[in-house]
Amino acid sequence: MRILAIDIGGTAIKSAIANEKGEITDLREHPTNAKEGGPAVMKTALEIAHGYEDFDCIGISTTGQVDPKRGIIVYANENVPNYTGTNVKQIFEQEFHKLTCVENDVNCAAVGETHYGAGRGLRDLLCITYGTGVGGAIVINRQIYGGAHGLAGEFGHLITHPNGRQCGCGQHGCYEQYASTTALVREARKVDPSLYNGRLIFEEWHKGNTAIRMIVDDWIDEIVFGLVTLVHIFNPNGIILGGGILAEPYIENEINKRIYKRVMQSYSDFRVVKAELKNTAGLLGASVIAFKTKIGMYEREY
Ligand SMILES: [Zn+2]
Repeated sequence: MRILAIDIGGTAIKSAIANEKGEITDLREHPTNAKEGGPAVMKTALEIAHGYEDFDCIGISTTGQVDPKRGIIVYANENVPNYTGTNVKQIFEQEFHKLTCVENDVNCAAVGETHYGAGRGLRDLLCITYGTGVGGAIVINRQIYGGAHGLAGEFGHLITHPNGRQCGCGQHGCYEQYASTTALVREARKVDPSLYNGRLIFEEWHKGNTAIRMIVDDWIDEIVFGLVTLVHIFNPNGIILGGGILAEPYIENEINKRIYKRVMQSYSDFRVVKAELKNTAGLLGASVIAFKTKIGMYEREY
């Protein structure tokens, strides 16, 4: 089967033809020009799709909150103006008369990792990405658990510090205010304002900067607090960690050391691994969802 996979991100729209084995060909990349707004982004995505021939179905991974059953963007922030409310599924199905599946990009990446990446062989997984915020996805029986409206898995807004820092969601003390890369940078800049990204922070860390090492250690504790809570809720086989800063082996090693000391013994049969697929995870996940839906093997109960 030839599956057209499209990954609409904040800066680039990636596209490719995938097959049911997870092999990708004809990978292309175009700028999203997100600031031009949802209708312009849809126009670009349709033009990109017209550049491919002979596909059987379409899988779309996209930024924003998605209702995957209806294929609608239920919420997108100001990074893509007027994207909220876009019926992506309908737009593509009317244009191409092919089954189209739409899912949030974090969820697509999780499905991609589950089938072809770090989660191969595992059934129940949590995927968590640490960056500007903290993104999450719940994989149960190798497909996304979306909850009542397809929105489950917002681990970034677990409240880990009641009365803590104000979060963009309106609450105080959310996990992402403490465990994101943004949070690490905020703390590091209190020591040295020139340390404005993770790479610079780790350069200092490798030089043995004691203050920075303490900040990194506290930040890893923040990551682990949230993970321990999630392990006790979901009892997963595996946790897949994403985010550029995880390229530092110290972080993955420390998370692994600390997490097993804090979870109850009976929950400790799980693996913590790093995401493997990098920039093709979303495309592969979108292709799996489209392919499995096409053959009736992907259920959406919500
Ligand atoms: Zn929040």
